[in-house]
Amino acid sequence: MEDITTDAFVLRTVAYGESDRVVIMLSDQYGKLAGMAKGARRSKRRFAGGALEPFQRLRVRFGRRAHSSMVFLHDARVEQSYNVVGNVDLAGFAWASYLSELTDLMTPERDPCPELFDLYEQAVAAVARGEEAARVGHHFMLVLLDQGGWKPDFSMCGICAEGIVEASRPVLDPRGSGVVCSRHEAERLGLGPDDPSFKPSRRVIETRLLDYVGHASRGVPDSSVTTDPELVATATAMLDRLVELHLPRQPRSRALRDSLMG
Ligand SMILES: [Zn+2]
Repeated sequence: MEDITTDAFVLRTVAYGESDRVVIMLSDQYGKLAGMAKGARRSKRRFAGGALEPFQRLRVRFGRRAHSSMVFLHDARVEQSYNVVGNVDLAGFAWASYLSELTDLMTPERDPCPELFDLYEQAVAAVARGEEAARVGHHFMLVLLDQGGWKPDFSMCGICAEGIVEASRPVLDPRGSGVVCSRHEAERLGLGPDDPSFKPSRRVIETRLLDYVGHASRGVPDSSVTTDPELVATATAMLDRLVELHLPRQPRSRALRDSLMG
C-alpha cells in the first residue's frame, strides 16, 4: 500500500459499521477522494480536534491500493479552521453546506483539481469572514460548472450564436449551454416572435442579471456590480436551475438555505 500525505477538506462523512466512518474529501493533489477512517468514531487521537468536521483545511495521511477506489485514512490533523459554524449567521453556514454538496455531486473522484481546492478554501474563508455568502456562492457555482466542462455562455445565443442584446429577450437554455433568444421558444410553440400571446415558459433574463452573472463568472461580484438584494436572489434562482441540469439529484442542503433566505 502506497502512503500519501496531502491537504484536504471534508465534504461529507457517513457512519459505517460500529465505529468507522467513510469520509468524502476534496484534496489539493488528488481531487475528490473517498476514505475509510477505521475506528474514527472512537479514536480521538488519530483524528484529533474534530479533524473530520467540515470547513477545515486538514493534513491527511492515507494509504492507497492500486485498484481500490477507496483510500484508507491513517490520521488527520487540523491545519486551518474556518469558523463557518460559530462566526456567521445560519444562512452563511447553509450556503457553505450547499457549496460543499455541489462540489461533491459535480466533481468526479480522483481527478486532480488544485484550482478548485484553492477556490473552495477561498469561498469557505470568505463566508467565515462574514462576506455575503450568496455572491461568494455564485462565483463558486460558475467555476464548478466550468470545471465540469459545462461553462455557460451568457454572451451569445446557444442556438443561433447571435450576440445577446436586450431585444433577444434571452431565456435559460434548457440544455445548459447558457442562454437562447426567446424567439426560438416562440417558434417551438408555433408562434411568431412578436405574437402578443407569446409567454416564454422560462423567465426572460434581464440585461442587468446577465451582466451580474458575467461578473460572477470572473470573480465574486462586489457592491460596484449591484447593491440590489432582489437581483442577487434572482441570480441564485437562475444558477440553481443551471447547475440542476447537470446533477443526478436535487441537492439536499438547498432546502435549508432557501428556508433562510426569507
Ligand atoms: Zn438565437
